[in-house]
Amino acid sequence: MAKCDEGYRCEVCGRDVTSIIDSDLYLRFVIGELDPEILHTSPERHLRCNPVLSQFIRCDGFERVVVEGDFGAGTLDPEFVDQRTDLVTRGYLRLQEIAASEHDGDVTSYPLPEAIDRYR
Ligand SMILES: [Zn+2]
Repeated sequence: MAKCDEGYRCEVCGRDVTSIIDSDLYLRFVIGELDPEILHTSPERHLRCNPVLSQFIRCDGFERVVVEGDFGAGTLDPEFVDQRTDLVTRGYLRLQEIAASEHDGDVTSYPLPEAIDRYR
């Protein structure tokens, strides 16, 4: 996705992931949970096709995802949910920033500051 605008196929629904702001892979990368080494070899998914992650995005313009059951925010520790919401939402905003900028495909500059430290 970095090199050109051609989408990658979502392994859940089979449709193309056409933008970085729909990308579960890049969101996990910017928040420090996907090793850059495997970024280009991991299967792509839409954010909404990974509700266990995207339920933590709380942002205007992103329709809230609700997960029922064991992995739903409603059953998790509230403190964890707060931290997770903060991190994942910041990651989502970062993706929007990247999408709006003249990113040159240098993915090492994508992650949040604390995630860049973790990858070092
Ligand atoms: Zn999908």
